[in-house]
Amino acid sequence: MLRLRKIRALAGTQSGRKLVQWGFVLLILAIGLQFILFVRQAGGSGPVTLSRPPGVEAFLPISALISLKYWLLTGHFTAIHPASLVLLLIIAATAVVLKKGFCGWVCPFGLLSEYLARIHLWIFGRPRRLPRWLDYPLRGVKYLLLGFFAYAIFWGMDTNALAAFLDTPYNRAADIKMYLFFAQASAVTLKVLAALVLLSILVRHFWCRYLCPYGALLGLLSWLSPLKIHRSATRCIDCGKCTRVCPASIKVDKARTVWSDECNACLQCVDACPVKQTLQLSVTERRGILPRSWYPLVLLLLFAAGIGAACMAGRWHSSISAEEYRQHIRNINSPVYNHFRGQTPPPAASGPSTSAPGQPASVIPAQN
Ligand code: SF4
Ligand code: SF4
Repeated sequence: MLRLRKIRALAGTQSGRKLVQWGFVLLILAIGLQFILFVRQAGGSGPVTLSRPPGVEAFLPISALISLKYWLLTGHFTAIHPASLVLLLIIAATAVVLKKGFCGWVCPFGLLSEYLARIHLWIFGRPRRLPRWLDYPLRGVKYLLLGFFAYAIFWGMDTNALAAFLDTPYNRAADIKMYLFFAQASAVTLKVLAALVLLSILVRHFWCRYLCPYGALLGLLSWLSPLKIHRSATRCIDCGKCTRVCPASIKVDKARTVWSDECNACLQCVDACPVKQTLQLSVTERRGILPRSWYPLVLLLLFAAGIGAACMAGRWHSSISAEEYRQHIRNINSPVYNHFRGQTPPPAASGPSTSAPGQPASVIPAQN
């Protein structure tokens, strides 16, 4: 009982948030390492004994969006990268329930951004912000990027185009290509990454605030969340501590309810507030209060429940066999693995698709 209380007390602090963030970093590193070992083994000539970790598909958001539309239109849940769609749905659900907690508690780029922001503070002594006339339009860039992907997929692709894309060698080997993109990074890639790191030091949270389309999607969904940061004006002593610690530069001390799409539910403002029950994550100022210590527990529960349900429904593991992966890895430099920009793709390296027109070979019919 005492231990449970201690865990809940820790979970309700910023140390608890760091613990959750680092937990996810370690999990992602473990998944990445297992995937690298799998690719190396499958690319060799011996038997493939290692399994491919499905969690690697978290890094295939475009494939997930295309699979989502295909699922909505046809009722068929992709079996090519099913975990990518499951994770997209879970992350979207966390935003609807818990605001942008994915950005503030889970995303490794969010954590990296926080450490780069510390370098910013070390260099400049205090947070430097871009002037409003530049900040506002730049914040729109991530929505433009999201709009571009949404337009290309939701308006630009019909059922046949979706099915064709899902069955392309490009999509079937998307995880390998993504790994090689970083493992064999070109000079241009390295320069772009270095520029993003530099910009994130000069301007706090540059990537998250201005460029991340995933963050834009979660920001939009977070408006649906019944939970918001609420400030009790009667209790507030106007010390301004909440505003000073807010990484999203939100003027918390001036708001009764924080509606900003930039709020990532990090709860730093709540932790910083010196007056009890003045700032809380709640449905209204007085009702539906979610205690700080419950936040990570609910977040982790959503992930566990979503992945557990997907496993039980047989929609977590890819249907691509180790032998097919071997073929993809051996032929990955072939032009058939290039992106075809909407053109009709050639048949998969594993052989022509046997699926019916408009239906990729590897989809599981929706279960009723
Ligand atoms: S308003 Fe509070 S919870 Fe939201 S980003 Fe700012 S500090 Fe974090
Ligand atoms: S930290 Fe609390 S008391 Fe201080 S301004 Fe913010 S809400 Fe008011």
